[in-house]
Amino acid sequence: MELHRQQCQNCRSYNMRNLLVRNPGEPQKVYVRCVDCREFVALYTLSDYYHHGKGIESYLKSHGSGEVESGRDMLADFKAVQETAVEGFENAIEQLKKEEKDA
Ligand SMILES: [Zn+2]
Repeated sequence: MELHRQQCQNCRSYNMRNLLVRNPGEPQKVYVRCVDCREFVALYTLSDYYHHGKGIESYLKSHGSGEVESGRDMLADFKAVQETAVEGFENAIEQLKKEEKDA
């Protein structure tokens, strides 16, 4: 696994702010801005998005494709995504600690 913290190309800061942009019919976008010098740092176009602690309603809104699925299937999907997200996050933090970048 390769792990990077997002860093500002302008002032080398690691303090980032994510601006989440949703437009109907388009994949969600995340514009990353440096908190310290306010420079535009990066843009992510999301094929998938999970926001921890926001619950299934937020998840479904982000994945509103209009597909007909049973509530049971969607709940199972959500739980699987939640589990994978938390696991991936914990792995990333563990890696950060190993690389002594957990600041
Ligand atoms: Zn900066």
